Amino acid sequence: MSGSALDPKTAPVFPIAARTAMKDGQLRRNVRHATDVIQAKRARVVAEMPDWQELREAGKQIRQHTMENLDFYLEEFEANCTRAGGVVHWARDAAEARQIIVGLVKASGSDEVIKIKSMTTEEIQLNSALEAAGIHPYETDLAELIIQLGHDQPSHIVVPALHKNRQQIREIFQREMNLPKLGERPEDLADAARIFLREKFLRVKTGVSGANFLIAETGGVCIVESEGNGRMCLTLPETLIAVAGIDKVVPRFADLEVLFQLLPRSATGERMNPYNSIWTGVNAADGPRAFHVVLMDNARTEILADAEGRQTLNCIRCGACQNACPVYRQTGGHAYGSVYAGPIGAILTPQLQEMHHAQSLPYASSLCGACYEVCPVKINIPEVLIHLRNKVVKQNGPLNVEAFAMKMMGMIFLSEHRFRAAQRMGRMAEAPLVRRDEKGEGWIGWLPGMLGGWTKVRDLQEMPQETFRDWWKKRGTHGS
Ligand code: SF4
Repeated sequence: MSGSALDPKTAPVFPIAARTAMKDGQLRRNVRHATDVIQAKRARVVAEMPDWQELREAGKQIRQHTMENLDFYLEEFEANCTRAGGVVHWARDAAEARQIIVGLVKASGSDEVIKIKSMTTEEIQLNSALEAAGIHPYETDLAELIIQLGHDQPSHIVVPALHKNRQQIREIFQREMNLPKLGERPEDLADAARIFLREKFLRVKTGVSGANFLIAETGGVCIVESEGNGRMCLTLPETLIAVAGIDKVVPRFADLEVLFQLLPRSATGERMNPYNSIWTGVNAADGPRAFHVVLMDNARTEILADAEGRQTLNCIRCGACQNACPVYRQTGGHAYGSVYAGPIGAILTPQLQEMHHAQSLPYASSLCGACYEVCPVKINIPEVLIHLRNKVVKQNGPLNVEAFAMKMMGMIFLSEHRFRAAQRMGRMAEAPLVRRDEKGEGWIGWLPGMLGGWTKVRDLQEMPQETFRDWWKKRGTHGS
């Protein structure tokens, strides 16, 4: 039912994929409209909070403290979850996580599962593994359902179908749900999805979820959502399997007080998520009879070991950085070649050991800092981007053109004499390439080699004929 998953190992690199996305005017309009709406809502509800910056700092401290003591809190979570009747499984990587989950679903006697929206299951491409094992996954989040029925891929962490407009969604529902007379009002689409899903909720006996937070102190698993579909998946099936990255743990129940204020405001511009579900173990009188939690590493301990990249793990997946990013707003999510798109994808995907993408994703940013400003847990994304760019340059060895160019520039900037000589040489070298416009201003429309990346999409203004220092000197001499 689902399209082929976005796999960083096989997806085209960002510059190539972005070129294709930029040609799709409808996609760009959809992404821009949706991100504008969410950003405006976020700005309104954030402005209501006089202590927003203090909250951000508290969020950062909670996440930082957790990462510094991750082993302790994971063990505490395992002990408390087990005590409450849950079963905790540890998965080293995506393959192991898939194998455990497929095994658990088979053991539950089911060949179908209902799924709650989860980026972790997208990360490990669980749906294709389930389908390969003869198990049919049904997405129950409205946006994920649109993606699944449209044989598409998510393009945003929080709003996976953000690149689709209402008309496109209607066409998918008409075709896949066999509803030729379906209306186009939002309530018509919501009704169609509700009827389609209700039958699955009542029939399917096994549920698979992700987790927004794992609470070490209680062994509880927390899901926040807007539609109530998640709560149906958590309460109706007989077997519930939650899969979460090890970075999802928080130490105390009370930490949610901070995170529950930061996450919905940053994600969807809501003051509070309509549904906050926390469940702990099993209860003989109610809910699933079997409850499993798969704790997955999948390169997270490597990220943790990198002192500068570690802050990436503080992410609470709100997607605010995506909405604010001028690069994401032009290309949408698919160009990033991974389920994690936008600024967080640009730093997370390469660290999830996809070095193929490390060559391009850390460069998919203007370094404007908008992502850092909106991040509710103050992840300094530009800092991590630079750190990763540095790694890419080092990996490419001493013959790397960029490393050589930077070294040369470093030498030039260290000496005024060399700097002035470089300016003179630059002016001479550019002279044959300069074309004058009607105002007499000089522009360069073509540059050779690596520099040509700039002139491929815009013209470069010629260097000024007089430097500031020369102008200043002249001004002093003439006394004007
Ligand atoms: S990096 Fe920050 S802004 Fe981006 S998704 Fe994560 S928490 Fe949200």
